[in-house]
Amino acid sequence: MVIDILNKEEFSKDDIISLLQTEDWYEVQSIYSKADEIRKIYCGNEVYLRGIIEFSNNCEQDCLYCGLRKSNTNLDRYRMSKDEIIQTAQTISDLGIKTIVLQSGEDFLFTGKIIADIISSIKAKLDVAITLSLGERNFEDYKLWKTAGADRYLLKHETANPKLYASYHLNQSLQDRIDHLFYLKSIGYQIGSGNIIGLPQQNIKDIAEDIILCRELDLDMASFSPFIASPETPYRKQKNADINLTLKVMAVARIVLKNVHIPATTAIATLDEYGREKGLQVGANVIMPNFTPNPYREKYSIYPNKKCVKDNPLQCPDCLENSISSMGRKIAAGKGHSLKASAS
Ligand code: SAH
Repeated sequence: MVIDILNKEEFSKDDIISLLQTEDWYEVQSIYSKADEIRKIYCGNEVYLRGIIEFSNNCEQDCLYCGLRKSNTNLDRYRMSKDEIIQTAQTISDLGIKTIVLQSGEDFLFTGKIIADIISSIKAKLDVAITLSLGERNFEDYKLWKTAGADRYLLKHETANPKLYASYHLNQSLQDRIDHLFYLKSIGYQIGSGNIIGLPQQNIKDIAEDIILCRELDLDMASFSPFIASPETPYRKQKNADINLTLKVMAVARIVLKNVHIPATTAIATLDEYGREKGLQVGANVIMPNFTPNPYREKYSIYPNKKCVKDNPLQCPDCLENSISSMGRKIAAGKGHSLKASAS
């Protein structure tokens, strides 16, 4: 019975599968309210904003689901200059947001040194935490960036099923990704990972394994985002993820993982008009608004019709403030570092 499982402290794989499998309305509501209760205990009512700068859409990888994949020749590729990146970071900081996420495809023209220089320039000027989300890079670069002042690294495992992983990522292995995450953690990064829900061939057991892998990685941040079919990819005709399954996965992840930051992702906001608000009600405590400036903003097209892509990011905090306060929550003033005592 779902109700009995929800009263446990520790969850087996079978428990997690049972929670993910139920479609009974009352049981699903009880999962949602348990997740909300756990979120309140570990995160309080504050919602952390992380301002993202998507500074390059060039990518050496060919992930089958992603619109930035190397084989997509119909994408207008760009790289922001160092000055543009720093100026955007300044704008985010001026709006009172205390985490800057630097994200890009796997773009090796941004060398380890160039990225380190950007990190130290931002850190010298602004009182912000920096999260990097640059894909798999070499271990020396990770060290260099940590020394330059980076605080966190976000590298999603995407799926914990090694066979599926190999089928979506032609030249990459799940084990490598896990090795990178453990290495990042060992040198003092707060680490974020997570999955995509609703990928082709994926089943509920795979998603349960995703949550278990997040627990084994002892993540500081865990992101569970819905698959959205991207037109210039081999998966263009696949169905988008189901919103209800996405919410259930987020809720179960909160119940199992407890003291971890969980975002209501841009992907869930894209999938469902109220996806962000729904996510915040079932365990999420983070939102990652996009500050990539024009003319680049629309070109970071991982998937189509990204939420807010046509909006002016300067209006973002006010707009989010309205929806967050209407839910009895408030925007956090601090940096929102790891909730784990072990993190540096
Ligand atoms: N190059 C970086 C950043 C990638 S983009 C990296 O590899 O980590 C950030 C995330 O977008 C990916 O990790 C993936 O989880 C997500 N993503 C890509 N395509 C998607 C799609 N079609 N639907 C939903 N999420 C997608």
